[in-house]
Amino acid sequence: MERVDAVVVGAGPNGLTAAAILAEAGVTVRVYEAAPVVGGGARTEPLTLPGFLHDPCSAVHPLGAGSPVFRALALERHGLEWIQPELALAHPLGDGSVATLARSPEQTAATLGAAGRAYLRIVAPFLDRWDTLAHDVLRPVTSWPEDPLLFAQFVARAGLPVKLLSALMPDERARAMFAGLAGHAIAVPTSPATGGVALLFALAAHAVGWPFPRGGSQSLSDALAAHVRTSGGEIITGHRVESLDELPRARAYLFDLSVEGLLGIAGDRLPGPYVTRLRRYRHGPGVFKIDYALSEPVPWTAEECRDAGTVHVGASEAEITAALRAVVHGRPPSTPFLITAQPSRFDPTRAPPGQHVFWVYAHVPFDWRGDLTGPVEQQIERFAPGFRDVVLARAAAGPPDIEARNPNNVGGDIALGRFGGVQALFRPVIARTPYATPNPSIYLCSSATPPGPGVHGMCGYHAARTVLRRVFGLGDESVAEVTGIRP
Ligand SMILES: Cc1cc2nc3c(=O)[nH]c(=O)nc-3n(C[C@H](O)[C@H](O)[C@H](O)COP(=O)(O)OP(=O)(O)OC[C@H]3O[C@@H](n4cnc5c(N)ncnc54)[C@H](O)[C@@H]3O)c2cc1C
Repeated sequence: MERVDAVVVGAGPNGLTAAAILAEAGVTVRVYEAAPVVGGGARTEPLTLPGFLHDPCSAVHPLGAGSPVFRALALERHGLEWIQPELALAHPLGDGSVATLARSPEQTAATLGAAGRAYLRIVAPFLDRWDTLAHDVLRPVTSWPEDPLLFAQFVARAGLPVKLLSALMPDERARAMFAGLAGHAIAVPTSPATGGVALLFALAAHAVGWPFPRGGSQSLSDALAAHVRTSGGEIITGHRVESLDELPRARAYLFDLSVEGLLGIAGDRLPGPYVTRLRRYRHGPGVFKIDYALSEPVPWTAEECRDAGTVHVGASEAEITAALRAVVHGRPPSTPFLITAQPSRFDPTRAPPGQHVFWVYAHVPFDWRGDLTGPVEQQIERFAPGFRDVVLARAAAGPPDIEARNPNNVGGDIALGRFGGVQALFRPVIARTPYATPNPSIYLCSSATPPGPGVHGMCGYHAARTVLRRVFGLGDESVAEVTGIRP
């Protein structure tokens, strides 16, 4: 029977990163991907009209630009180019004011009114410390930090519910902005550690920006795939793996899959008690995604929104909280909180001259079957009157469509698991090395492992590191030599 050293199932950012690291270490690796193209949650497709290039999943990459492993892999050599919008984020409020997140902390603070000084106090210890912070935060909480003092300062703020962190900032603009930043975790603002999500995104804006890859997210995945291939790895697309028996014999199998995906393929090779623990893993809410082709830019009322790569749409902290509370409790939001991005404002390769792509999603309950297009567009119209008049075409996708596009996103859960309770820190189970299963040849490398969702490849990196140590006998120093990342 055919034999390779390692097999990776799934060519999302984490699977490709794991394969790149293994291949660089001289391990023969083969990747199997169900879709006809690589990328998973980092792809670009012509979803609407000819000439419009949409990102069906991720579009904006603060954690990608700030990822230690992407930096170590030097993806720029394989064509990745980051495009930085003038502003990372604009957040227009119902009263006409706007909070903005800029590269400069002072410029950001200046848009937060009376909360400006409090904002600067919150971010101050971490400014110019991104490399250390990313190294210590984008990994399992069980690892000993490189800079314990910095990490402790981060945890003191990050462990708080965003509601408490916001209470330190006496201005609605800052509170709404933080509620929106924490909204990426799809949890209620009173949940512990939602403050950490908001803080990490704010710090990323100051350290590395919130860029788009030129040409769309696919170019990031293509660069990762090129790295795998030039390091000697092989990638097979259009092959949905159903069983371990159809794979070549290998010393290690790494799954860039949801917990359900892992159980479906390899559940019978895992001990019963571990399977029972995996089955307790809980999903979070889903998303409703709309990709638009526009005849002209979004007609935002607020000037600042035109200069921002990402625009959060939620009139106040209370409105955002109500939307998140509804979805977490299984109800669709009547006034949804929207995360929107406008890549073609800064990258002309994405749409025909003068025309634009526009990327929007709202949170909805897990596996929700309704159509949120009306409420989403009503919400955009509040901040960009005349929006509907510039829509040429739209591609809407609710949870079932999102799952059909990528089986990892069960019930439309793009985070591969609920952010809350112990799952906010430990995933998929409480373990010192969460990538390893009790079967010494089976590993999980997807965003169902720490540090969780987002296009950063760090789950893949840590899983590959675990495999190099446990299966191929490389010591920490040798792994660090291969990866270029300090242990
Ligand atoms: C609508 C949406 C918006 C998002 N926005 C952002 C954003 O702006 N910024 C950001 O950083 N993150 C964003 N994310 C999250 C991000 O895309 C994911 O966290 C990330 O892609 C996870 O990477 P992964 O490698 O773990 O898994 P995935 O990207 O899900 O990749 C898994 C791969 O495995 C393949 N696969 C599944 N089952 C099988 C099988 N049986 N056999 C073979 N292959 C299989 C899938 O086809 C897929 O290619 C978004 C996600 C979605 C859906």
